[in-house]
Amino acid sequence: MYDVTIIGAGASGVMCALALKEKDKNLKVLLLEKNDKLGKKLSITGNGRCNLGNINTDVSNFNSKSDLSNFKKALEIDNFKFLNKLDNLNNLESYYDYLIRFGVLLTKEKEYLYPYSMQAISVCKSFERCLNYLNVEIKYNYDVLKVSKKDDVFTINDDIKSKIVVIATGGKTYPKTGSTGFGYDILKSFGHTITDLYPSLTKLKTDYKYIKDLQGVRVNAKTSLSVNEKIEKQETGQVQFTSDSLSGICIFNLSRDVKNYLNENKTVKIIMDLVPDYSNIELQNYIKGFSSYNISDALSCIINNKLAKVITKELKLVNKTIKELTKNELDGVCFALKNMHFNITGTGDFNTAQVTNGGAVLDEFTRDLESTKCKGLYAIGEVLDVDGKCGGYNLSWAFTSAIIAANDILRR
Ligand SMILES: Cc1cc2nc3c(=O)[nH]c(=O)nc-3n(C[C@H](O)[C@H](O)[C@H](O)COP(=O)(O)OP(=O)(O)OC[C@H]3O[C@@H](n4cnc5c(N)ncnc54)[C@H](O)[C@@H]3O)c2cc1C
Repeated sequence: MYDVTIIGAGASGVMCALALKEKDKNLKVLLLEKNDKLGKKLSITGNGRCNLGNINTDVSNFNSKSDLSNFKKALEIDNFKFLNKLDNLNNLESYYDYLIRFGVLLTKEKEYLYPYSMQAISVCKSFERCLNYLNVEIKYNYDVLKVSKKDDVFTINDDIKSKIVVIATGGKTYPKTGSTGFGYDILKSFGHTITDLYPSLTKLKTDYKYIKDLQGVRVNAKTSLSVNEKIEKQETGQVQFTSDSLSGICIFNLSRDVKNYLNENKTVKIIMDLVPDYSNIELQNYIKGFSSYNISDALSCIINNKLAKVITKELKLVNKTIKELTKNELDGVCFALKNMHFNITGTGDFNTAQVTNGGAVLDEFTRDLESTKCKGLYAIGEVLDVDGKCGGYNLSWAFTSAIIAANDILRR
């Protein structure tokens, strides 16, 4: 009989196992993983660099249908203390401390936090070494198909008995890494409610006539998500164009509810200000200086030349020079630079999205993440209805929620 069995050796499951065994070496902890190694998803995060946190982390960077205020303190990290921390590693107890104690040296680039090696794989290696050192028992290639409970004892797949079970099976995205969404079924079987699930942090598909011409272009733009002609959200940052979609961090952060809006037959558009640093008047004056240039050449002194060509084509001004433009046409050119519209027709799917919007309803768990439906059952990480923006927030949640649950288990 195990004291604690954790299902899933991803970011949250491994952190939970380490946090338990570090504090109580006698606890019998079992980690079950269907893959032949730990952290398959962790090892591809942050384009292989693992953006495992953000010094500006606070609860406003996370979404949930439930109230997240219980977790406010756990998620908010004092920037100043953190900056100090890189010099003095012995102060504050946050998930950073745990990472450092478990062998992950940290560094930061702007506000983003990374392993010192800038390689996600080194985080997996450090975790593996620490799991070994702390004698955590791990069963790889073990696919959990069933969990039941009788007389205060959980049974997993008819062969493993445990006093406590922690569901750390992740969400539904990138199922080839192991997170197929099975954790939702386990939680449902114990009476939990699962919200609707949507892919989030994903590309947005567009039927824009000239999208193929823009493939490969990257721009920094102020980007707005318009739903039924109302601006719902804005983000400034890099947008990448592919042959049929808009992508990049800025778009990812706007993508969260798009699938839902489209399912409700709402009209979704992305509107880009391609020159957010200059006003309409400043642009007009600048463009007028290119009097004898054709429109596309003049615009390519302000924006990417592929975009300049597309805007000129769209406005049907291909054969005109700047001095030949009427006032309305010049207004139209500047309007297009500051309001380029893309009709959105779809999103990326669960195979390519980075995180799941939705999950097990948080209100059905205590503030220490124990189920209110079944004593001794915990859920941590992405399987819960919490998702963050791009920038290290989802791993912050995976690690923080794991520590919250581990501390509660240790107090029992
Ligand atoms: C391409 C990509 C890049 C990302 N980059 C970042 C980033 O840079 N920063 C960031 O903060 N977040 C990033 N994320 C999101 C982040 O990786 C996840 O939110 C986080 O890994 C969730 O942790 P978790 O422990 O809940 O689940 P996971 O890490 O998905 O782990 C779940 C584990 O459970 C196992 N499992 C599932 N079902 C079973 C079962 N039935 N039996 C046994 N084992 C099972 C799985 O095999 C898996 O190993 C990225 C995601 C993707 C897809």
